[in-house]
Amino acid sequence: MRIGHGYDVHAFTAGDGLWLGGVRIEHDQGVAAHSDGDVVLHALMDALLGAAGLGDIGQHFPDSDARYRDAASGDLLQDVLRKIQAQNLRVVNVDVTVIAQTPRFGPHRGAMVRSMAQLLQLDERRVNLKATTHEGLGALGKGEGIAVHAVALLEDAG
Ligand code: MG
Repeated sequence: MRIGHGYDVHAFTAGDGLWLGGVRIEHDQGVAAHSDGDVVLHALMDALLGAAGLGDIGQHFPDSDARYRDAASGDLLQDVLRKIQAQNLRVVNVDVTVIAQTPRFGPHRGAMVRSMAQLLQLDERRVNLKATTHEGLGALGKGEGIAVHAVALLEDAG
C-alpha cells in the first residue's frame, strides 16, 4: 500500500463558473488558471502521483508547455492513471476536502463524486468528498479563492 497527499489553491477571478472534480458549476466567479483550473482534480492528481512516487503535476504537465494551455484536467487525470497503472499500481480509495466560502457544495456533491469515480474507474463508495468553509479566516475566509486537500491510497495491481 502507498499513500499520497495533494494540495492546490486557485484564486477567484472574474468569470461565470468553475470546473470542480470534472463538473462545471455555475458561479458568479471563475478561477485564475493556466488550464481549466479544476483545483479538485489538480489536488487529486498530486495525491495520486505522490502515492506512486512520481513527483507532481508541475513536472508532468508544465505551465510553460503550450500543450497544456486550457487543458481539460479530466484528460490529465487519465494520463496520471495510465502512469500509475504502468507502475503496476491501482487506486484503492481517495478522500478530498474542499475549503471555500463559496460556492455551496451540497447541491454538487453527488455529481462531483460520480465524475471523479468515473475518471478514476472506481466505485463511488471509494471516492469521498468533503467541503468546509474557512470560518471567515484569512484569504480563503474572505472568499478570495478555493483550496483543496486530497489523499489517495494505492495498492499493487497484482
Ligand atoms: Mg492547480
